[in-house]
Amino acid sequence: MCASADLYSVLGVKRDASQAEIKKAYYQLAKKYHPDANKAPEAKEKFLKIQEAYDTLSDETKRQSYDQFGTADPMGGMGGGGPGGGFQGFGSMEDILSQMFGGGGRARGPGRSGGFMSVGEDVEAQVTVSFMEAVRGTQTTVTITPIVKCEPCGGQGAKKGAKRETCRTCRGTGTAMFAMGGFHVQQPCPDCSGEGSTIRAKDRCTTCGGQGRVRERKPVVVDIPPGCDNGMRICMQGQGDAPVEGEGPAGDLYVRVRVIPSKQFRRKGADIYLALDLPFTTAILGGTVRAPTVDGDVEVKIRAGTQPGDELRLRGKGVQKINESSRGDQYLALNVKLPAALTEKQRELIEQFEADVLGRPTRSASASDGASDSGSSGSGTAKGDTKKGFFDRIKKDFEKLKGDK
Ligand SMILES: [Zn+2]
Ligand SMILES: [Zn+2]
Repeated sequence: MCASADLYSVLGVKRDASQAEIKKAYYQLAKKYHPDANKAPEAKEKFLKIQEAYDTLSDETKRQSYDQFGTADPMGGMGGGGPGGGFQGFGSMEDILSQMFGGGGRARGPGRSGGFMSVGEDVEAQVTVSFMEAVRGTQTTVTITPIVKCEPCGGQGAKKGAKRETCRTCRGTGTAMFAMGGFHVQQPCPDCSGEGSTIRAKDRCTTCGGQGRVRERKPVVVDIPPGCDNGMRICMQGQGDAPVEGEGPAGDLYVRVRVIPSKQFRRKGADIYLALDLPFTTAILGGTVRAPTVDGDVEVKIRAGTQPGDELRLRGKGVQKINESSRGDQYLALNVKLPAALTEKQRELIEQFEADVLGRPTRSASASDGASDSGSSGSGTAKGDTKKGFFDRIKKDFEKLKGDK
């Protein structure tokens, strides 16, 4: 169910309670509020809440998603889900309870005979959205085939004018009683499936074959919230199966969202990672580059002296966080690109730079018998005061090169 009461307080355990503590708390509460043991009118509801809390907290995956998103609405990598949760590895209580509630931790059974509230099964579906659709949020339609009440017979299973007959096995009560482990266990009658009545073969509704329920194709519009991530599940209350018997509420629909990865952005939670190429001149001299984000391109300032592999953080340029108002960040891994080939002029400039760093004549200068212009880089002693002038010059040249591009 999509309820959102604090599950830890329902069981009366701490948030860091061990599985053993959770199990113990559940066992004691289940015993106390079990509708067979406790006739108080609110016991039933309380018991269902306890059951629901245990279903989530006893499953580490569900528990994590609950802890992370702060709601029982299980957005996030819940495994298995739906029927089958809970109850695993439980002693004799497990046998009793699973008999009563089926595998899914839901109260089922003879709705008409005034026993437990019957609740329909949950239904699972999957939708696939693009990376950007998940980031921005979108609306999509999923077609499901839930169990619904049969229209022609109004869910009764009998043809018009035909009547149901009282079940002889249970004499119309719809239940069979067992005593197990100190509990009186009420089970749906096996002959009438808890209906308390049966229909003769010739009187059965032709649409549903006497079941009173049919499967119906039904498109459901699903709201994908901004920031939705791969594997998250969206809970849509009451969109699941109608109960097979009785008049209880329908189960829920869980829509698992599959997100197609982006070719460009890598996503980890609400943060986005991107490798960004940078001309080496920009890395050395500083400047600006354009960087793609999920909001479109932005200008990014690069400080002078940026090193290959340096990382930049664009605060708030990540993905919307689920159940929070803030957004994640975008990280840019700076990839300094070196030119694979140089023009004559560029080569000369780089050689001058090298000579200045090393404090000796340029390669071309020594090759052409020291014919370079004097002063800045001619001799091994040309350092100190002249250095600044050289850098200014080379900076201007680089900037000119950049401008030429
Ligand atoms: Zn019966
Ligand atoms: Zn029918």
